[in-house]
Amino acid sequence: MRQPLVAGNWKMHGLRAENATLVRGLIDQLRSEMRAEALICPPFPYLLEVSRLLKDSDIALGAQSVCAEALGAFTGEVSAAMLKDVGCRYVLVGHSERRQIYGESDALVARKFMAVQSQKLVPVLCVGETLEEREGERTHAVVSRQIDAVLAVAGVGAIGHAVIAYEPVWAIGTGRNASPEQAQEVHAMIRAKVAALDATIGGSVRILYGGSVKASNARDLFAMPDIDGGLVGGASLKADEFAQICAAAG
Ligand code: PEP
Repeated sequence: MRQPLVAGNWKMHGLRAENATLVRGLIDQLRSEMRAEALICPPFPYLLEVSRLLKDSDIALGAQSVCAEALGAFTGEVSAAMLKDVGCRYVLVGHSERRQIYGESDALVARKFMAVQSQKLVPVLCVGETLEEREGERTHAVVSRQIDAVLAVAGVGAIGHAVIAYEPVWAIGTGRNASPEQAQEVHAMIRAKVAALDATIGGSVRILYGGSVKASNARDLFAMPDIDGGLVGGASLKADEFAQICAAAG
């Protein structure tokens, strides 16, 4: 039985006062909805403060990115050990904004995945195709390639200690979500791919859907057999909407 997970990616939004209001709202509203695990990923400067605000709650803390290196002269970077030190349990790796805007390659994402696991944190490996790739019928090839890059360095056993998030790039921040059937088709492919290497891990790995998840579409998406929750951007910035999405996953 896979426990659903709903992760909020705040991206580069929120200052201290808004964050505190949002976290208090989440703590209030999520208390009765906790059958799904809830995770929030604030920007780096606020992780410690949000970690303290979450201290007596069941809401998990995650980071949006990480450095692939363990420590040293890497100006502006943040290591997995630092993220662990401030209370993170999860780290997003390979978000499409990192891949597209900052040029993170499959190989770099795989190294970040390893860096996260080296600190016994849980990587949330984000994969997904662009609109052009979908229209060129390359969705499976692209998503497979992104996962293969991690499998090549980490092995299938590492997927047993990770979460995968399928996020079609054309659905992120556009208001246009993949249909439940479109998402399920890719989720099933991902699960089958992992199961072909290890049936137990294939059956147990949580695969989240991300891309314009809202309270109004979450229930239909999460009803699909291979969708184990969501990675939520815009709608994670409103406590009541995020709580409704968590309730839909539970
Ligand atoms: C995301 O940032 O991962 C995301 C899915 O964003 P949104 O929900 O806003 O589409």
